[in-house]
Amino acid sequence: MKKELKDIFSEDLFEGDMRFLEPMRKHTSLKIGGPADVLAMPQNLLSLINMCGVLQRNRIPLFPLGGGTNILVRDGGIEGAAISLKSFRRIEILNRDSQYVYLHVEAGTLLQRLVNYAKENGYGGIEGLAGIPGTTGGAICGNAGAFGCEMKDVLVSVEMLDSEGKIKRFNAEEMTFGYRSSGILPDQFILNTDIKLRIHEREEVSAKVENFLNIKRQKQPVWEPSAGCVFKNPSGVSAGKLIDEAGCKGMRIGDMEVSAIHANFFINKGEARASDFITLMNEVIHKVQQRFGVILEPEIKIVGREIVN
Ligand SMILES: Cc1cc2nc3c(=O)[nH]c(=O)nc-3n(C[C@H](O)[C@H](O)[C@H](O)COP(=O)(O)OP(=O)(O)OC[C@H]3O[C@@H](n4cnc5c(N)ncnc54)[C@H](O)[C@@H]3O)c2cc1C
Repeated sequence: MKKELKDIFSEDLFEGDMRFLEPMRKHTSLKIGGPADVLAMPQNLLSLINMCGVLQRNRIPLFPLGGGTNILVRDGGIEGAAISLKSFRRIEILNRDSQYVYLHVEAGTLLQRLVNYAKENGYGGIEGLAGIPGTTGGAICGNAGAFGCEMKDVLVSVEMLDSEGKIKRFNAEEMTFGYRSSGILPDQFILNTDIKLRIHEREEVSAKVENFLNIKRQKQPVWEPSAGCVFKNPSGVSAGKLIDEAGCKGMRIGDMEVSAIHANFFINKGEARASDFITLMNEVIHKVQQRFGVILEPEIKIVGREIVN
């Protein structure tokens, strides 16, 4: 299978970086994950479309990879192609009036680059996204948010590429955003987005961003390898509080540990495997269910195959 993949791709028009059997632990904030059969980083849209065509014709699955900050890749790695849009990172002003500025942002743009750009220019609306790692595409896919602010709040439209190579632009109202969800299919690529931000005083935006960053640094172990919140908050209650009160803080399987600082963060203390993470998740789910009768649902996306011997 792996040799075949090399042959398939070498024949096609592709500009960019392509790595075979690339360990996904190098591309995830958890530092966990077996090898992707191929990890491709197309340099332009044509290469991405060509690649999707090759994959489609050969019935090879694909996985859109952002910053890898909200995924757990299983120890068997990713079957087929993980495709990163990290070369798609343009931010452009489309239009501006006395109240609003409209920006065109490519999906591989780091969300914190966008937040900083907005902060430096006094554009308000995404201050609450300060400190959320990953890409703009990943933030749209998971409708990332914090402090009462969600990615969907500023979206005007999103351009997507489907697995058949068709490109279509959707207005935000046509999409089905929910709490940490967007309804985007697993094999659809977000290519770019147009967003609308409000023009404010630069100091005002900057103060809000700094305030949110400080709160995040105090309450979350942002300096340790994690994938952010493991579980969604059940309606009206914080998952972290339930996990803490069920006595799970500090629980450990292998090198995977429930953070003592924020119980909804699991930390890789060294050489943890995806199987350790999943065992720890299941134990936490069980304990919370026993104590409160609530079944926690994962916020992170678990992808890839079980280990193959
Ligand atoms: C320390 C820390 C703090 C965090 N704090 C928060 C927080 O406050 N709020 C919050 O919501 N999240 C938080 N997160 C989680 C994570 O950073 C966000 O969910 C982020 O938006 C994920 O983006 P990503 O680019 O890393 O996506 P990835 O993890 O790479 O992918 C996540 C999903 O998006 C899909 N995807 C990525 N890019 C594209 C694309 N271009 N087209 C189609 N699909 C795509 C992937 O296929 C996958 O299904 C935190 C994580 C960490 C490590």
